[in-house]
Amino acid sequence: MGYENIVFEEGSAFLVTGGAGFIGSNLCEAILNLGYRVRCLDDLSTGYIKNIADFFSNPNFSFMQGDVKDYATCLEATKGMDYVLHQAAWGSVPRSIEMPLFYEENNVLGSLHMMEASRQNNVKKFVFASSSSVYGDEPSLPKKEGREGSVLSPYALTKKTTEEYGRLYHSLYHLDTYALRYFNVFGKRQTPDGTYAAVIPKWIKQLLHNEQPTIHGDGRQSRDFTYIENVVEANLKACLASSSAAGQAYNIAYGGREYLIDIYWILANSLGKSIEPLYGPDRQGDIKHSNADISKAKELLGYEGSWSFAMGIEQAIAWYTSAAREIEA
Ligand code: NAD
Repeated sequence: MGYENIVFEEGSAFLVTGGAGFIGSNLCEAILNLGYRVRCLDDLSTGYIKNIADFFSNPNFSFMQGDVKDYATCLEATKGMDYVLHQAAWGSVPRSIEMPLFYEENNVLGSLHMMEASRQNNVKKFVFASSSSVYGDEPSLPKKEGREGSVLSPYALTKKTTEEYGRLYHSLYHLDTYALRYFNVFGKRQTPDGTYAAVIPKWIKQLLHNEQPTIHGDGRQSRDFTYIENVVEANLKACLASSSAAGQAYNIAYGGREYLIDIYWILANSLGKSIEPLYGPDRQGDIKHSNADISKAKELLGYEGSWSFAMGIEQAIAWYTSAAREIEA
């Protein structure tokens, strides 16, 4: 739904940075399914070989273990590539508050290296992962491009700065860049593990293990939870967008609004659990409410975003439940 009929030039080659991560591995899979070549660049700092293990037998797939902080690696990785889908970065607002220096180097310098290398190697389109966190303390809803506030975390600042580089690389060097502001993405292969894991996979895993999940705050925070298929569609459509739409940022979401407490009970009920959640303190740097106006991406990228939260969560629960069964077997 949304991208199965997309056609690129025969033999097109895509570089997916962060391709061993959650979003990157789904991008690699979709491009391989469409029949095009994929090079995955990843340093495996937060990604996993298991996410891409199934692709190694496909002759259209190659893996390069490397770090976008190293410019020579970026130059080598972009050689011969038509499209770059740059996902490599560290996520998590709270972790960025603990490690601001690392975030600046990894997310900003790494992205600048990738843009410069893409320019040097005449890449056609440079599509990159930004984030809804760039809206910062701007309270109005829905979030709309051009109406941003002050950012609330080093992570958000890395995305805002990268967007500015994207704008400059288009205006100064005519590299077609597209910043995709993802809103709370979820779906298969998102890691449930670690202190900084996203809530949906983390709660599913805890509930499957009969553990009591913690909700930070009162659970009345709302988010525009976005199913991974919408994000894949947006990346592929951006690769085909016109140059007049480059140098800009786009909200990528479904356009809905889900409350954390409701999501908790959807997950618990689907998994047949009646475990009450624990409540912890609010998290610093978090935005209380977030939902997206997606009209700009629809108009300029031809984005449809047709996977609703309800459709996506059903798929995600089924995937995690069967992955858990495979691990136990
Ligand atoms: P992820 O951690 O699963 O994937 C990121 C991948 O990038 C990992 O495989 C990691 O090993 C790799 N990586 C990190 N630093 C690297 C470096 N220096 N060199 C090479 N590889 C490196 O996270 P994700 O959820 O798939 O996020 C992908 C992108 O989308 C990130 O840029 C993130 O900031 C952005 N984003 C994600 C969400 C979300 O809800 N998941 C929301 C907004 C934005």
